[in-house]
Amino acid sequence: LKPHHILFAAVALVAAQVSTAFAAEPVDCNGRKDVLGTSRVLTLDTSRGLFVGSNSYPTKLPLAPKEVVLTFDDGPLGKSTEAIMDALAAECVRATFFVVGQQAAAHPAQLKRILAAGHTVGHHSHTHRYMHQLDYETGRADIRRGWQTVDQILYGHAGEKPVTPFFRFPGFASTKPLSAWLKDLGVGVFGMDATGYDWTPIGSDKILARSLRELEVKQGGILLLHDIHQKTAAMVPPLLRALRERGFTVVHIVPAGDRVAGN
Ligand SMILES: [Zn+2]
Repeated sequence: LKPHHILFAAVALVAAQVSTAFAAEPVDCNGRKDVLGTSRVLTLDTSRGLFVGSNSYPTKLPLAPKEVVLTFDDGPLGKSTEAIMDALAAECVRATFFVVGQQAAAHPAQLKRILAAGHTVGHHSHTHRYMHQLDYETGRADIRRGWQTVDQILYGHAGEKPVTPFFRFPGFASTKPLSAWLKDLGVGVFGMDATGYDWTPIGSDKILARSLRELEVKQGGILLLHDIHQKTAAMVPPLLRALRERGFTVVHIVPAGDRVAGN
């Protein structure tokens, strides 16, 4: 065991309810060493439910200090999603996109490119309505329609459970009955640990500064950004450079048994 393996094991023990496995070797980037890259793949077993992210839940992902999981919500969209995927590809970084069903229907080419590039496609409802304002059946139908729309485009079929069982509530507005349903289905629910507040009226420089400040305070974790904003797309290249300079590494989360991500 190398020291960093022991560290990961210790973190995993603290978050004992999160079942994990991880690749010890960095994800290959055609031999390139001058990039941020993706340091490891974290496989998450959601079969008995998973609720992670310190803004919403007591449980965090089993990450070592300075490990970051990049997440982008509310897309796909045309230009901004494309620009973010270009920036990620240039640094061999893999992220998770929590996509909105009606956005996926409007931008299927971008949705397919997210998957083809090896990123994880998680779910974020169909219409992005806040679930605490809806009755249970309406909320459930909206969440299910979101992933069914996405899975139909990506895989040509859609079922009662999403192919990738990762979900984030719009606005983190969860409800107990919907959370219980998702747990029973084996769908993991994600909060966040850090964000750049790119949904507020601030520019790229501030989004970058706030993202880095929160990641420094939390020493890594799940970073939330939105791929529907050009101002966010503009700060992703300097963000990735800054993460590398500051010694952060990127972890790619995939679901256990995922036939798409190749593990
Ligand atoms: Zn959202």
